[in-house]
Amino acid sequence: MNTLILKNISKIYSINKAKEFYALKNVSLTFPSSGLHGVIGKSGSGKSTLINIIANIDKPTKGTITLNGNQYSKRNKHKFYQEKVSIVFQQYHLLERLSVIDNVALPLLIKRINKKQAYKLSREALEYVNISETLFNQKCSTLSGGEKQRVAVARAIVNKPKILICDEPTGALDSSNSIDVLNILKDYSKHTLVILVSHNLQLINNYCDRIIELSDGKVINDYYKNKISYQKDKEHKYRKSLSSWVSKIAFNNFKKRFKRHLFVFISLVISILMANVVSGFLNGKDSAIKNACYRQFDFGVGTVSEEEYVSNSGLLKLVKSVRPDYFSLSQDAYISTIFDICLNYSAILPQNPQILYDDEEIKDLTYNPIYSFEDQHINKKLFIKGSVPSLDTLYEVVVNKKAYEKIKRIIKKDPINEPLSIKYSLEVNYVSEYGDVISDSFIYDIKSRIVGVVDELSYLSTPKIYYSYTALESYMQDYLLVNLSTYYANDISWYDQIKNAEYHSYISSYSYLLFLKDYRYKNYLFDVDIFKSDLVFTSNSLVIADSLVNFLDVARYALLLFLIISLIGTILISSIIAFTNYSEDRRNSAILSSLGAKNSEISDIYLNESIITSFLSLLFSFALSIPISSLINKIVYKKLSVNNLVCIPFFKFLGIPFLYPFIFLVGVLFITLISTLLPISFSKRNSIKEELQNND
Ligand code: ADP
Ligand code: MG
Repeated sequence: MNTLILKNISKIYSINKAKEFYALKNVSLTFPSSGLHGVIGKSGSGKSTLINIIANIDKPTKGTITLNGNQYSKRNKHKFYQEKVSIVFQQYHLLERLSVIDNVALPLLIKRINKKQAYKLSREALEYVNISETLFNQKCSTLSGGEKQRVAVARAIVNKPKILICDEPTGALDSSNSIDVLNILKDYSKHTLVILVSHNLQLINNYCDRIIELSDGKVINDYYKNKISYQKDKEHKYRKSLSSWVSKIAFNNFKKRFKRHLFVFISLVISILMANVVSGFLNGKDSAIKNACYRQFDFGVGTVSEEEYVSNSGLLKLVKSVRPDYFSLSQDAYISTIFDICLNYSAILPQNPQILYDDEEIKDLTYNPIYSFEDQHINKKLFIKGSVPSLDTLYEVVVNKKAYEKIKRIIKKDPINEPLSIKYSLEVNYVSEYGDVISDSFIYDIKSRIVGVVDELSYLSTPKIYYSYTALESYMQDYLLVNLSTYYANDISWYDQIKNAEYHSYISSYSYLLFLKDYRYKNYLFDVDIFKSDLVFTSNSLVIADSLVNFLDVARYALLLFLIISLIGTILISSIIAFTNYSEDRRNSAILSSLGAKNSEISDIYLNESIITSFLSLLFSFALSIPISSLINKIVYKKLSVNNLVCIPFFKFLGIPFLYPFIFLVGVLFITLISTLLPISFSKRNSIKEELQNND
């Protein structure tokens, strides 16, 4: 038999140092394990103080209180509420945004009762308090007062407490609802100790088995109206399992505070986007610039300065081109290792080619040498040297998926093995020994066929055709050498050779050609001291590459600074929001405590709530990074012809697959943890009593 024994309980409030006020004075009471025990008394007589002490939400100043011989303890209070005491409040204190059945199931879920079992018991409890099944899934906020109080009773008894404490449960109800509630409590008290505070004397008189009257903190009357007999109730057998009540409430809170979360969400998204773009820049800039430089040498027109130079073919006077976009090339690291230039030729460098199928131009395709592309992604077999075609065979190229789709769309069939015509217009400049400059241009048509599709793994890329640099280069070289100078091997002047070539009608004018040789060799044009500082090349892409290097060097710090500021801002914002959330929800926290939830579980609710935002913003910002960087790349490409400048290292970072998104995952979790738990640990947590006690 459970017996609750209060021995010489006093509760003293000190109004000031000199004056002490006894809210309870030497109260000794004994309660059996069942029966409806009514506590009455004038307002201020100490009723709430008494039952708060019994409910363990308040401590006596003096005296002891024991339940079945065990004294109340401060430790493991959540166990006490899970197993011993349930409280019904005048103001119901339901979690308004949860459904009826969720509210009732909560104490069981907190106790980690198996979910199915918990909801089964909850339905039984709701039926017991006459709540119709149609209300089970309604939000509590939509119920009437009488219904709310019956739901509150169901929630209090679903747990099978040893003691059910009701402080003015009918205080806010009309008489018929009050009678309903009292009938329920009366029935329930047959096997459980129910202690009821009310100042409705008639109800107390009609329903209670025992009446305890308080006045000025003392028991002035205590008598039994009925003999209390104990009926055994069947015990629940609970199967324990992890339950999801924490996340359920977290999700509810999330919905409730959607606007504030949106705020955190936006600031997190901005920070993460920023971080992605910055690292995309840092990751992509080197290869983008390198590509720009490579392209320059494949397609750009070289020009030369006005200086006179001595070379092994005699005195040269080289004249600047009229193009305004000169780029001064002073032993630039990008260039000096790339090219080998035959001294005797000058400036035959193809322009961007036109790509045609059946005389129809396919626009916006870039034409890239294979070495500017990660080798591992390409089937190298396609580019073995031996596959250099002769003039009447088709030159083999591969395309990336974007180009494949594009060409397929335009030609309306599978482009594999289809012939493409790649037309260069070649600029030929020659400065003769006599100082006159002759320019010429002609179309150079490379008959090609697409032999494969390259899987670039790069969703940001533009449509590209890849060719083997070495193959094309030697192809052109052979062709031009054969055509321009049949006396290449002989030791005659280039002037004569070109004259000769003209004579044989291979070309239409005098030309002085500068050839690209194998890019792996040293550029010995640049090794000749005299050329080092004075040679001037002109090219859009080199100017761009150079300015990009300069820009990014400066921008990197600005971007990083902005990133840091936005991250700190996000932490601050989410901390403040976590803090205000927590203060706002102290009442709900107190309700949960009174249902037996541990403090750590209550903190988890707020953590889960923040994690929802964090995860959503992480997902969203990573998804958004793709179109944004693609957009930046498109703009940069359009304005500067630099490809894939922003290249976010989603897939591989520092050589480790998926390290990059993983770092963000950990980072965001860390921010969430810090910004949620710090405010919780700093914010003042009111006791259940202060939050939930109603003073009558
Ligand atoms: P009842 O519920 O019977 O109306 P209470 O138990 O709430 O009365 O209060 C008993 C007395 O204790 C009242 O006079 C009240 O003013 C006083 N009291 C309650 N709480 C405090 C407190 N925190 N500090 C000082 N006095 C208090
Ligand atoms: Mg009271």
